[in-house]
Amino acid sequence: MLIDSHSHLEMPEFKRDLDEVIQRAKESGVEYIFTVGTEKKDWKMVLEIAHSYSSVYAILGVHPHNAKEIDGESYTILRELCRDEKVKAYGEIGLDFYRNLSPREIQLKRFREQIGLAKELKLPIVVHDREAHQETLEILKSEKAAECSGIIHCFSGDYEMARACMDMGFYISIPGGITFKNAERFQEIVKRIPLKSLLVETDAPFLAPVPFRGKRNEPSYIRYTVQKLAEIKKVSFEKVAEMTTKNVFRVYRFKFDPFDGIRRGNF
Ligand SMILES: [Zn+2]
Ligand SMILES: [Zn+2]
Repeated sequence: MLIDSHSHLEMPEFKRDLDEVIQRAKESGVEYIFTVGTEKKDWKMVLEIAHSYSSVYAILGVHPHNAKEIDGESYTILRELCRDEKVKAYGEIGLDFYRNLSPREIQLKRFREQIGLAKELKLPIVVHDREAHQETLEILKSEKAAECSGIIHCFSGDYEMARACMDMGFYISIPGGITFKNAERFQEIVKRIPLKSLLVETDAPFLAPVPFRGKRNEPSYIRYTVQKLAEIKKVSFEKVAEMTTKNVFRVYRFKFDPFDGIRRGNF
């Protein structure tokens, strides 16, 4: 069993053929897909997708790119929608100092606020950190994010950062970029992170792994990332699939072990 812990199925790239994309995922062994709604206009559609497919679950929040759009009603709407049984985490939230689509001061403020909201909602958080490692870590610590824990998605920090996040109970999620030729430094870091703290994700439609680099990414391609992780860790494909699946069930707080009496589509 494989799981794609992070994708964006509501994006326009999937408008034409979402049924086929989800079918292909199933045929490749991807039993569950988590799709992330990053801004107000997408939340309802994300929930609709999650309710249309038994294999799809939802994550809702405001992405750092959209932090400047948060207004008086945003958190009221999120409080309401996040009560839906298909919502398994709050996110993605965090800091993106690479593209800076929202002013940094606003990103920092909204990141802090949303950690607070996730704790109130009793949901784990999905953290987006791009070129803001130090600030991300500082906020996770000062806002006591260990109380909700969650996932550092598309991890791009160094081993010390991974260690600090794992110490707060976070999982480290590995995207398709690990398969790229120039990813040696990243692969060396991942080698040191124990499997019990690792997840895999596509972040589809972005970041397609080799041999699809540059094309639209989709959940069925998660197997290339799992395969690369198996090579790096010198273990079998099945071992990585099993461990990352268990970790997903743990972090999203499903009530039972996926390999022990699973009731499909009913947890
Ligand atoms: Zn992200
Ligand atoms: Zn994402």
